Amino acid sequence: MTLDVARIREDFPILERTARGGGQLVYLDSGATSQKPQQVLAAEQGMYSRSNAAAHRGTHLLGEESTDAYEGARAKVAAFIGAEPDETVFTRNATDAINLVAYGMSNAATSGPEAARFRAGPGDEVLITEMEHHANLVPWQQLCQRTGARLRWIPVTPEGRLDLAGLGELINSRTKLVAVTCQSNVTGTVPPVAEIAAAAHRAGALVVGDGAQLVPHQPTDVTALGVDFLAFSAHKMLAPYGLGVLYGRSELLAALPPFITGGSMIEVVRMEETTFLPPPQRFEAGVPPVAQAAGLSAACDYLTGLGMENVAAHEEALTGHALKALAEIPGVRILGPLTTEDRGGAVSFEVAGIHPHDLGQVLDESGIAVRAGHHCAWPLHRALGVQASTRATFYVYNTHDEVDALAEGIRTAQRFFGET
Ligand code: PLP
Repeated sequence: MTLDVARIREDFPILERTARGGGQLVYLDSGATSQKPQQVLAAEQGMYSRSNAAAHRGTHLLGEESTDAYEGARAKVAAFIGAEPDETVFTRNATDAINLVAYGMSNAATSGPEAARFRAGPGDEVLITEMEHHANLVPWQQLCQRTGARLRWIPVTPEGRLDLAGLGELINSRTKLVAVTCQSNVTGTVPPVAEIAAAAHRAGALVVGDGAQLVPHQPTDVTALGVDFLAFSAHKMLAPYGLGVLYGRSELLAALPPFITGGSMIEVVRMEETTFLPPPQRFEAGVPPVAQAAGLSAACDYLTGLGMENVAAHEEALTGHALKALAEIPGVRILGPLTTEDRGGAVSFEVAGIHPHDLGQVLDESGIAVRAGHHCAWPLHRALGVQASTRATFYVYNTHDEVDALAEGIRTAQRFFGET
């Protein structure tokens, strides 16, 4: 079913504001963070104005309502990705979720026998890819530096796909863990995660999927994806900041040592030692972000109401339009795949003779918000032979007219900088 974008736009109050220059806002930066519909804003505000209390702590009515809202949100998110609630851990964001696994692995060195499978050290290897966001790169680099394990990576091809030719050697009996993006935030590339995960599992390795750009945009089923862990952020899927999710297979979460310790994650505390609650609470130290979780729950309802298949189809149409419109502009080089096959809606490009920051500024003068820079994927930019790029990303509220406005904005910038 086609999305009724005009109707959807009415749900997003921010789209009514004017942009620089007094014109209409053209928001093409949802890959960085999405806008929030009134349903999500109302859910978050409703928690604060009606039921605000610390979840899992109060014995009073508000505490009970707060706990119910928090656990209800967990069940909602779990269903959204085909997981069980006890496999769904709330974190601060995707970055935090990935660090939870990386630090859990470090902490395994001093934990009991059940944590043995997470221990990494000299002779072990951690495999990532050259197209990772820094959030799925630096934590693994750091883990390797702390433990003496070796970091390896799958290279990218000039087209911005993963070069899987050497996969047979890269995944081997030394491989402890494979961490891979499910959709690049720069090129939109969708790697064959299930295939990579199957190879990793045959070698006895764990698999972490970075779902930050997948879960908001495509129907997601963790079982079909084949990953052991999946990280994503609420703020990129119409929901509030300050909340992320780590999916983890039950038996793995049950054996993984905690990352952050303190209140709310303990079973019994004595001065000498502490025992921990089972997952997911074991990984949720401190007072939980209930209002944000209520917002995420409303966002899942909103997206489910639209139908994730329809969301994906809408974005594919916009992406196809953008790829065609930009390819027609002389001097524009699109980074990554030039068709929508196995490709999501991040369209990054360079324009000959114009620095991305200058281009971003000229587009902003026309009310068009894009991202300029390395998009937290510096090694990928190096591999593609560019320092930086300009990136347009799409979501449920974007229109084909906005894609045309982007193309026209690029031509305007070329005239401005004398590059035509
Ligand atoms: N992974 C990818 C692919 C991303 O695009 C991002 C954010 O842009 C992240 C991870 C990190 O997300 P967050 O900053 O919300 O933790």
